[in-house]
This record gives sequence, C-alpha cells and structure tokens, in this order.
Amino acid sequence: MYPIYICYDSELSSLDREAVKSAVDEICAKFNRQVIIYGDNAWSDPTKGFSSADWYVKKAKEYMPNQTQLNARLLIELMRHEPWQDANPHIDMILVSDDLTAEHNGDWLNFCFGLTCGRFVANSVHRYKSLNDLERFLAVKAVVLHEIGHVLGAAADLNRSHTEEKIGPHCTNPNCVMRQGLNLATWVKHARECNSHGSWYCPQCLADIKNSQI
Ligand SMILES: [Zn+2]
Ligand SMILES: [Zn+2]
Repeated sequence: MYPIYICYDSELSSLDREAVKSAVDEICAKFNRQVIIYGDNAWSDPTKGFSSADWYVKKAKEYMPNQTQLNARLLIELMRHEPWQDANPHIDMILVSDDLTAEHNGDWLNFCFGLTCGRFVANSVHRYKSLNDLERFLAVKAVVLHEIGHVLGAAADLNRSHTEEKIGPHCTNPNCVMRQGLNLATWVKHARECNSHGSWYCPQCLADIKNSQI
C-alpha cells in the first residue's frame, strides 16, 4: 500500500491547515495508511526543483502565465514526474490557494475543487474563501477525503449500486463524502451532512477503499 504525502502552498490559512490535519486523522483512524503532511515545508534542497508545494505552483504558473486559474492537470503532471516517485512510490496530494480548472470532454470547467488522476491529486481552497469558518473547515476536510477516496477506488465501479457518472464516477448514498458536488452550496451541504453523521464514507465506499490495491 502506498503511503500518502500531502503538501500545500504557503498561502493556505491556519484554518485550512487544521482541516487537512482533521481529514488525515480520519484517514488514519479508518484505514491502515501511512500519511505524511509535508505542508509548506521544503522536502528537498529548496534551490532545486520538485522541492516544495510552492515550487509546483510557481512552475505551473510558468506554463500558463496569463491565466487566472491553474490547470490542475499541470500540477498532476509535475507530481507524476517527481524524480523520487520511482524509488519511493507514493500517493501525492497538493492543496493550492489558486483557483483550479481542468479540461473535461474538450471544454474547460468553470472551476474545479479537486482533480484526481491515478495516485495524484490537486485540490484548491480558493472557492471556499466566501464561507464562514465552520463551513470552510468542513469543505476543505471534505475535498481531501473525497479526492483520496477517488485515489483509493471509492465508488469507482459504475456497476456497483448507488453510483452515478457525474464528471467521473460518484456515490449516491446519503451522508457520503464521495457524492459529487458541482457547486459550492452542494459541496458545503454534503460536508455538513457527513460531519453531522459522523462517518464521512458510506459502508459501500468504505468497503471499496478497504479493498484498494493502491
Ligand atoms: Zn469526485
Ligand atoms: Zn459512498
């Protein structure tokens, strides 16, 4: 089983950082996974490439200098090409303060909360800026748990019951963080429901994750 590495850029608020920690506690409590939060610290020589979340953001911006949104796939490609992925394969997640977009069926999405491709995840906290503290905390926690759920195969099989194709396969069970939320209000509603319910994944998604070979 691959360990999970999580980093975020230096602009992330302390509340966002607490929410990431809370999501990680949830992952550690439910699944037998090693999780390392690198946060905004450099994990290798900061004068070289692939050394911190800020480096990934800066590099992605160099590829699209005139855009207000970052292409999530660029961040994912950078993570995929990390030089030590070969020797030490791991699940990689980055959270950024910039707004993210991604291509879907030939069009650009207005925005995306997070994008998962294989074992690489790019998340943004940008759209949560208008929320109050509790909502923001829950929204960030939800995006971390949702995208890690995608990496680990939750609701990935559309032949499973209670799934739907909605920009990727998603769960339709109540109180499950693997439901799709295509706007901020729905995303927050789902996060609130999961929090009140106390269990962020439904039993089906939990079983999917426990069977994950990744
Ligand atoms: Zn999703
Ligand atoms: Zn579910």
